Amino acid sequence: MTDHAAQDTRQAIVEACREMNRSGLNQGTSGNISVREGTGEGPGLLITPSGMPYDRMGAGDIVAMGLDGQVRAAGKPSSEWRFHVDILRARPEVGAVVHAHPTACTSLAIMGRAIPPVHYMVAICGGRDIRCAPYATFGTEALSRHALAALEGRTACLLAHHGMIALGATLDQAMWRAVEVETLARQYLGCLPLGEPPELSDDEIARVLDRMTGYGHAG
Ligand code: 13P
Ligand code: ZN
Repeated sequence: MTDHAAQDTRQAIVEACREMNRSGLNQGTSGNISVREGTGEGPGLLITPSGMPYDRMGAGDIVAMGLDGQVRAAGKPSSEWRFHVDILRARPEVGAVVHAHPTACTSLAIMGRAIPPVHYMVAICGGRDIRCAPYATFGTEALSRHALAALEGRTACLLAHHGMIALGATLDQAMWRAVEVETLARQYLGCLPLGEPPELSDDEIARVLDRMTGYGHAG
């Protein structure tokens, strides 16, 4: 990546953070974002700093790290750098990781509930459901391990008693997916007071997955 491109990516991360809070997907200093970045120093990522209010964050506050987990310049990376690094290492097709604490996703995650196939859009995350990873303390290797397992074959998951993670080939795609997952969570939560909602079959989800190839952001 050229210096110019890296600067643009830093600015895009700052804007995505502000958009997360503006749109209600996140609040306060919760959440964090990373984008894969290759430099002369080898494979790496750009990641939000820890605990910094998004309206005060500038492009220069974004922290560069190697995929080996080493910080490349001054700055304190997000406390969740471990799952960002581990996801980007394990999933070469992923270019961006968005983590947030959206209210509907987090309400389900507090109850330890996955999002089942109650709407065909669940397939934008790669399969029949959006799993909920078991609880582990924020910033730990255990949380990273649980998240990676819940993300197997998927591009989003919930984190028990915590929030959600959405992945994308690009930052735009990861942000789009995060908003869609929160919408699905809201829809599912809207059904629950009426009883356990009916689910689409695995065959139908397979048909939807097939049809989604090349469709909009999902393609
Ligand atoms: P950071 O500010 O360190 O990124 O932490 C926010 C968060 O969501 C922790 O899970
Ligand atoms: Zn968090």
